[in-house]
Amino acid sequence: LATSPQPLLATLNDEQRAAVTLPSEHALILAGAGSGKTRVLTTRIAWLLSRGEVTPGGILAVTFTNKAAKEMMTRLQAMLPVNVNGMWIGTFHGLCNRFLRAHYKMAGLPQSFQILDTQDQLSAIKRLYKQYNIDAERFPHKEMQWFISGCKEDGLRPHAVEVRDDETRKKVEFYQLYEEQCQREGVVDFGELMLRSFEVLRDNDPIREHYQRRFQHILIDEFQDTNKLQYAWIKMLAGSGANGPVSDPASFAPRGSVIAVGDDDQSIYAFRGARVGNMTDFVREFKVQHQIKLEQNYRSYSNILDSANALISHNSRRLGKNLRTNQGAGEPVRVMEAPSDFAEAQWMVDEMKQLVRDDFERKEIAVLYRSNAQSRVIETALFNAGLPYKVYGGLRFFERAEIKNALAYMRLIENLRDDTSFLRVVNFPPRGIGARSIEQLQDLARAQGCCLSDAVSGLGGKAGANINAFVAKIEVMREQTQSMTLRQITELVLDTSGLREHYRNDREGEDRLENLEELVNAAESFVSNEGFGRDAVALPGEDDFVAPAPSMRQSPASQGFDFDAPMENAPAPDADTGETLSPLAAFLSHAALEAGDNQAQAGQDAIQLMTVHSSKGLEFDCVFITGMEEGLFPHENSMSDRDGLEEERRLMYVAITRARKRLYLSHSQTRMLHGQTRFNMKSRFYDELPEAALKWLSPKPGAQGSLPVGRPWGGYGGNTGGATYSGAGRAYSTGATTSFEPKVVQKEEPSHGLRVGLKVFHTKFGEGKVLTLEGTGPDARAQINFPRHGVKWLALSVAKLTPVP
Ligand code: ATP
Ligand code: MG
Repeated sequence: LATSPQPLLATLNDEQRAAVTLPSEHALILAGAGSGKTRVLTTRIAWLLSRGEVTPGGILAVTFTNKAAKEMMTRLQAMLPVNVNGMWIGTFHGLCNRFLRAHYKMAGLPQSFQILDTQDQLSAIKRLYKQYNIDAERFPHKEMQWFISGCKEDGLRPHAVEVRDDETRKKVEFYQLYEEQCQREGVVDFGELMLRSFEVLRDNDPIREHYQRRFQHILIDEFQDTNKLQYAWIKMLAGSGANGPVSDPASFAPRGSVIAVGDDDQSIYAFRGARVGNMTDFVREFKVQHQIKLEQNYRSYSNILDSANALISHNSRRLGKNLRTNQGAGEPVRVMEAPSDFAEAQWMVDEMKQLVRDDFERKEIAVLYRSNAQSRVIETALFNAGLPYKVYGGLRFFERAEIKNALAYMRLIENLRDDTSFLRVVNFPPRGIGARSIEQLQDLARAQGCCLSDAVSGLGGKAGANINAFVAKIEVMREQTQSMTLRQITELVLDTSGLREHYRNDREGEDRLENLEELVNAAESFVSNEGFGRDAVALPGEDDFVAPAPSMRQSPASQGFDFDAPMENAPAPDADTGETLSPLAAFLSHAALEAGDNQAQAGQDAIQLMTVHSSKGLEFDCVFITGMEEGLFPHENSMSDRDGLEEERRLMYVAITRARKRLYLSHSQTRMLHGQTRFNMKSRFYDELPEAALKWLSPKPGAQGSLPVGRPWGGYGGNTGGATYSGAGRAYSTGATTSFEPKVVQKEEPSHGLRVGLKVFHTKFGEGKVLTLEGTGPDARAQINFPRHGVKWLALSVAKLTPVP
């Protein structure tokens, strides 16, 4: 490549430049938010390529989200005249998918295996529960899902799980059944993508050695949030000099260069198995000589940065690093207390309009919240104000019911054994197939040990005829779509399935219909964009690795396939068999892996809404952090233990450090959440921020006479969505010192019949004990301790409580 490396380095500071130009060894870059970690990684790749130290095929770069991968490729493309589509840059899941597509036979999977997303996985689990009559009270579905994912993240197959008690034994038995079902249906869940590709590498010397030779440079962003299996996967690929077993620590001598980049203060996925400890393990096991710290923050003004630094200093277990900025103080961090969540959202929208008038782009304004459930009120306010917005996470485009229905048909065209998809649409749009018939079919399939579509022929009567017609319809669709483009396939599926017709006749189906049209667009742009080349690249089949030719062992460069050849939009056929992954199969895996990038709205200048978790690595000019309330942020599930609280604080650190220029924090005295009006105290995190950097837009609570009369937003106060408590004008101090002590304690017998100490039952939270009662009539509320869900304030006019004798 002809580019001179110098301009690449020109804009970097000394530490960054040192990191970019490290020799080909292992290194850890440990640095705070906004210090240029991701930029260093990207620049290093460009630097290596531009000096001819490695070919694009020799690089493996792992990012945390698809969005980050895309951004990295865009930046690389801008720096160098290189075709980035063939490069292995992506998330762990994306890369594993790609690996398994290339080695599907070795992995024991059908070529067109389908990916179960989290929802699909849950419905697959529920289906098995029914089949085996498993008690969902005793083993809640989600708990089982976590158990299975947890085992996979620890690299454990059912036989390897240590069984200490009866409960675990039951779960392991279920895990086994679940695995068999997935295998039968040719589907893999997210955890399986990782574990399966790990096992293929572990168990097949030629394949492992091939990739070990190939990936001379491995770069991992957001390393603090890798889990055990992901780290093991990297170790496997980094390999050992002697090619000895990776599991033998004594002989582990990784070759090439592995550069891990991370920030322990931004580790926010411990609840999902992430291990900060991977950083110290990495330094030890890779005998890391270079540890680089970056301390200059380029992102934020110092009021924002000081807030982040002050907050995170309250955590005890930290690796320790500093951050400074040259950018000056900037605007103060603005803080707002609103009487209700509606008022909070309305205030935010007003503020945003002003920001837009001040020439901020809408896509440079982000709203961050701790829980997805918070987005609804904000969305309504934005919608009413006519401000375009885009929600990341939550229900993503590819997770919407109508899209999943269409995809289910497409998946069945690819693979009729996919029972999850089969059950999803066998009677959708409705075609007179009853639940009983489907149960019969399931019984039959179970008895024969086959998939549903194979069992249909054994089903008689009208039900049999109807289901047979469904299967025949899919088969006809498969025939018809043989030589069609992806766009044509999508169109045909929408029409032939009856979905279009169905939603057209549905009075509330307009949005859904629009989304279906977006699916056609998504299919179209998937083919014309680089997406296809990237996700669907067909590598040489595994047969090439079974008995490697002697030449292959000696000369990695001359293995007969050209990894660095520019990727065409159509995938290259299998070197051996000529087989190629169909565009449809590629599109389907793309849909399952797509993380939050809503194709439909990509590029539109819209306000960005997302959870704090999904904001990691991103930056915006203006950031609103909403719902700064005890129980919400920090979240009630994590408030009670120190580890949980420290993780919440790291989340808050991530949230604050997303902002470049403006930062707003807000909370509300009342909030409708999960059907209840809650009365929350303001978040303890406020008390951990430097007074000097903040500006209270509302009177600071805790100060004398905390809630003044005649506030401008009082008009929204009464609207708390059903509960009649009026936030404005009632003197409930939410000040830190008062800990929300009840002001009035009931003396007479109240109409609701509850008393302190009484046991009550709530349909969602289960049994609990009344701690406090206050208010009368429609304002009556109770503080109740639910052993499973913690202490909650419930409005008695809304909450359905029954006394437990
Ligand atoms: P996070 O921890 O949030 O992932 P990060 O450490 O990865 O942050 P980057 O996103 O790489 O940080 O960089 C933060 C911002 O600072 C980006 O806008 C980047 O372009 C800019 N930046 C980084 N280094 C420099 C530099 N030397 N000169 C100017 N701008 C820089
Ligand atoms: Mg980053």
